Amino acid sequence: DIRALSRDYVSHSLVGASHSTRALDEVSLAVDGGEIVGIVGESGCGKSTLARLVAALDRPTSGHVLFDGDDLFSLRPKDLTRKRENFQMVFQDPFGSLDPRQKVERIVAEPLHVLARRPSRAEIREKVAEMLESVGLQAAHAGRYPHEFSGGQRQRIAIARALITEPKLVIADEAVSALDLSVQAQVLNLLMDLREKRGVSFLFITHNLAVVDCIADRVGVMYRGRLVETGPAHNVFERPFHPYTRVLAEAEPSIERFGRPTASERSPPPLGSAEAGGCTFRNRCPLAMPRCAAERPELRTIAPGRQAACHRAEDMGAEDIAGNGN
Ligand code: SF4
Ligand code: MG
Repeated sequence: DIRALSRDYVSHSLVGASHSTRALDEVSLAVDGGEIVGIVGESGCGKSTLARLVAALDRPTSGHVLFDGDDLFSLRPKDLTRKRENFQMVFQDPFGSLDPRQKVERIVAEPLHVLARRPSRAEIREKVAEMLESVGLQAAHAGRYPHEFSGGQRQRIAIARALITEPKLVIADEAVSALDLSVQAQVLNLLMDLREKRGVSFLFITHNLAVVDCIADRVGVMYRGRLVETGPAHNVFERPFHPYTRVLAEAEPSIERFGRPTASERSPPPLGSAEAGGCTFRNRCPLAMPRCAAERPELRTIAPGRQAACHRAEDMGAEDIAGNGN
């Protein structure tokens, strides 16, 4: 459970003034066992900040991340270390995240060394072989170095490393974005398979809506640090309740666009101080009205399983229904 998570970054200028930027603004979201939750949004919307906080690689300014009922940020360091075997992270870059000087066997086994119970060498070897096979690589290749593998294989190695502690949750930040289309599809199938066989939950962060549409049960759409819409992935993209989701969905209409840069990657205009109180999307929103400048829309339930942070979410739904009738 992610509860009202916020993260501010403070920058100091030469004259001693400090300026605080809110990268993440009161994001709350639950990921259930075996569930794949996708997080989408433009670059700079706070997706990676969210990933790092959920993986406890960074601390929030306020809010909580509850894992099996324990707040990660109030655990003692020793207990947090123990807890880490339950959640692992996979990053975008299969080149940068694997140490080129280490053999695959060593790389994949690395998370085991933080476990409370130190496994024996034989156990490690066996576990590494099992993990490599479960991601479709040959156990016999454990003695090779990362450069001897393709990009897709390297990402599989990163996934094998993430799974070796048998985590309940894998946080994947743009985990397939650097891969070719056909390799992306393979890795996505692998993740869905792992969910099926091992009941692993995923928090899957990407700018690519087609990828989320393909693998996620639920999606959260982020805009400038806030969660603006949540719901079953397919419903959300088919029938958005937030105007921003519609902009994203229209920019990326089909699975053929998989992997190509789209409008969803363009950065939003800088946030003017005048708009701080209202809806942060209002200077791009075709439905904006005076209330949108005065009052910040909170995330609220619009339909069963569907939430949106927009004063006119019901109008978005009504517009769509009218449109379908014609
Ligand atoms: Fe647009 Fe207003 Fe909804 Fe914001 S609250 S998305 S400005 S209609
Ligand atoms: Mg990012």
